[in-house]
Amino acid sequence: MNTDELKQQLLAEKELLEKELATVAVPDTHAQGGFTAKEDDFSNEPASLDPVELGTELESLARNESISNTLEVRYNNIVSALVNIESGTYGTCNTCKQPIESDRLDANPAANTCKEHMG
Ligand SMILES: [Zn+2]
Repeated sequence: MNTDELKQQLLAEKELLEKELATVAVPDTHAQGGFTAKEDDFSNEPASLDPVELGTELESLARNESISNTLEVRYNNIVSALVNIESGTYGTCNTCKQPIESDRLDANPAANTCKEHMG
């Protein structure tokens, strides 16, 4: 297995995810690898928001939260795949400890389970 190539692929995706995450969340200082959704920047708005604007703000936070959660899962998968490459355990199923099918890794280099144990 050419892990150098995979590593480059994972690093590129990690960088992309970091940028995407930065638009909807800030790193959580209390949890390693965690992110907290941020509100859209309403600092230009008057301090006393009317109820309609307040509703929009809450919606945007909820939306950012759901985007951020999805990205965070992918991000942490990639980080652990990179750690596994370094430690030589990359490509092993977390559940059964068997090698992960190479076509599954081709489709998702950050996969940490075999086809049988995916999902
Ligand atoms: Zn498995």
